[in-house]
Amino acid sequence: LRQYSAALGQTGADRFKVAAYRRAADTVDRVSQSLADLVGRAGSLQGLSGIGAGISKVIAEVIETGRLKALDEALKQMTPELREVASRPQLDPKKVARAYKALGVHSFEELRLALEGGQVRSKLGANLELHLQQGLSDRRRLLWWEADKLAVEIESFLARVPGVQKVARVGSLRRMQETIGDLGFLIACRSATSVFRKFEGFGAVERLPSQNRRTASFRTSSSVEITLTSAPGSEWGARLIEATGSTVHVAQLSKVAAKGAPRTKNAFGRLSEEREVYRRLGMTWIPPELREGTGEIEAAREDKLPVLLEVADLRGDLHMHTTASDGANSLEEMVEAAQARGYEYIAITEHSKSLRIANGLSEKELLAHIRRIDKLNEKLSNFTILKSAEVDILEDGTLDYSDSVLKLLDLTVCSIHSRFALDRKKQTDRLLRAMDSPYFGILGHATGRKLLRRQGYDIDAEKVLKRVKANHCFVEINSNPNRLDLSAENARLAKSLGLKIAVNTDAHSVDELRFIRAGVNQARRAWLEKDDVINTRSIAQLRRIFRR
Ligand SMILES: [Zn+2]
Ligand SMILES: [Zn+2]
Repeated sequence: LRQYSAALGQTGADRFKVAAYRRAADTVDRVSQSLADLVGRAGSLQGLSGIGAGISKVIAEVIETGRLKALDEALKQMTPELREVASRPQLDPKKVARAYKALGVHSFEELRLALEGGQVRSKLGANLELHLQQGLSDRRRLLWWEADKLAVEIESFLARVPGVQKVARVGSLRRMQETIGDLGFLIACRSATSVFRKFEGFGAVERLPSQNRRTASFRTSSSVEITLTSAPGSEWGARLIEATGSTVHVAQLSKVAAKGAPRTKNAFGRLSEEREVYRRLGMTWIPPELREGTGEIEAAREDKLPVLLEVADLRGDLHMHTTASDGANSLEEMVEAAQARGYEYIAITEHSKSLRIANGLSEKELLAHIRRIDKLNEKLSNFTILKSAEVDILEDGTLDYSDSVLKLLDLTVCSIHSRFALDRKKQTDRLLRAMDSPYFGILGHATGRKLLRRQGYDIDAEKVLKRVKANHCFVEINSNPNRLDLSAENARLAKSLGLKIAVNTDAHSVDELRFIRAGVNQARRAWLEKDDVINTRSIAQLRRIFRR
């Protein structure tokens, strides 16, 4: 389906048709039942999201014959060069064409050499390099958010396999890393062989050759790897720790174990509970997201682990958009959704006037918007809409609204949305200058990165964070799963410098308020506690914080 979509795209087919096949492939990739069974039983896959009669027939053809005639025909009409590109549906053909032209190459083999030699980066930039590297890789990385969705389907599939007693996420998925290269699961079951065989029926996976009987790896049609490992229930705790990692954490833990009991054959003993293993090693249980070998073991031995931030600690969200700029829902709808989440306040942060592409508000429009918010606030009880804006930081470091307008706002989120290519010194100075405005509130998505897509702009993070602190400003963790900006490393640095942080969604629809989960994960990986985060405060405390 994916290849057919790519091939259709290259032969100039209707773009809706191209998109329909790609969507169908996404659906098939996470169907938590055997497709062959479904087709066999119902005779059709209609009813699965995005799959109508036509595509259902196509899937049935692939299942029955192992081929798709229409795809074979389409491929026959293409040049070898284009055929090769269509074989990697994750690649954007237009970007490949651009790279081929600039580099004077004509095949993946030559392209790979150019990637390794660094020519792609030097001639075409880091973002295109990132795209090509990922498109050519046999193992696709996913955002944690996407991996989590797929993991839910996998768990539900495995739970229904007879003989499965326990399933747990392991590896980077459990440690909630920003991106995931391999979805790992540990399984306690009667027969690993039969569970692995059953899993061959999950979505459209293909089983990969494996080294041993305890582990099996699979690959989805979109090149996502899934690894299942079996463990006896009696050793569950120890195996869970090993499989969760990180490598550094497990190595450090092994050292502790070796000192304590030099004769144990099995580093962490045969214990069924993870907590019990840590206890025997003289420490408290360590949350998976802290297991990176960055001081968590020492902290756990001294019983000084942080009490990590929880979603329930948050009382509001300080960054979101409505239809007034580039959001999908109205002010009223955002308020209603925030109330349903149990929030006590939100800040509405429309884009400012320079950001035309995102329908930024002129000063006049902002003033009208503020009046609407005032009116709505009068009607609300136990809920406050904070008047705010996502104010562009212009190239020279000035803010995109005049002081006379900024002073009417309760707080601001200030962000860079243009001129990403400035060098480190200029970009850093731009931010420092912006923070000298008395109306600078929260620094929005500090580096502008998009995970797996775009590197951030180049800044001296420590210098910037120090100025945030010195000027009594704040910095956000932007929870959008594509951004997660600050990174956990920078957020931890911020905490060590004594900064307070806002964990915001930057939601552009009511649905995206859910992103807060991803931001809280990020905060947890940065060791943040409730007290480190400003939107855990009451509205009265928050107003005090932002009083200038
Ligand atoms: Zn923004
Ligand atoms: Zn925003």
